[in-house]
Amino acid sequence: MSQDRRPLIAGNWKMNVLKADGLSLAGTLAQNMKGQSDAVFDMVVCPSFTLLTEVGNAIADSAIALGAQNCHAQEKGAHTGDVSPTMLEEMGCQYVIVGHSERRADHGETNGGVKAKAAALQALGLTAIICIGETEEEFDAGQTLEVIKTQLTGSLPGDSKAANTVIANEPVWAIGTGRTPTLEEVQDVHALIRGELTKALGEEPANGIRVLYGGSMSPENARDLLALADVDGGLIGTSSLKAEDFWAIAQSCV
Ligand code: PEP
Repeated sequence: MSQDRRPLIAGNWKMNVLKADGLSLAGTLAQNMKGQSDAVFDMVVCPSFTLLTEVGNAIADSAIALGAQNCHAQEKGAHTGDVSPTMLEEMGCQYVIVGHSERRADHGETNGGVKAKAAALQALGLTAIICIGETEEEFDAGQTLEVIKTQLTGSLPGDSKAANTVIANEPVWAIGTGRTPTLEEVQDVHALIRGELTKALGEEPANGIRVLYGGSMSPENARDLLALADVDGGLIGTSSLKAEDFWAIAQSCV
């Protein structure tokens, strides 16, 4: 963690949570957050579209922000089943995850498509959490740094800055598997990302952009991961589904 950037702890609930559990989870986190007025981290929860209103209400008077898991790049139009950035803004979202590896794999999302979504969010003043990460084959072939560089430069709009952009480095093979890269491997990738952000955007805009680690972050490994110089928080799937675990990860920033 760097002194220059406030850590962000982001929960990606994916397609896992129904209303009763979502409200209980959000309510507990909101209570915890209210009890920690001196929190040194930011927190965002990203439920499914169907729960945005109710979870938004449950966290409304806490410092927890609301996020969505995807959006369309267009503001409106004939796109059956899609949800626009404007719609998400209207629901109170401040953050939207784009380019998660599950969307890249399941829906053929490309770097260019992810960039268009991120740019549409940024134009509205929302923050895009842009996900990148190598597959296991690419990791095994020693291509991680090259793949990360290509995904980052291809997915990053030119107007990106701290107020509208977060990067999430998520090795695909670490997601939901209980496996993580070594601390040294994580730091090497995050140092590369920080360097590429500076090259692409210039020192000033790049410096405040937070780079999260994602992939089997848990209460057991969070403190070590979050202590790395260029890790500015976490994007958390499995361990964001239990308030106790997610809160314990956030407490690792303290
Ligand atoms: C994710 O999918 O964003 C993620 C990091 O999942 P998990 O924490 O379960 O690995």
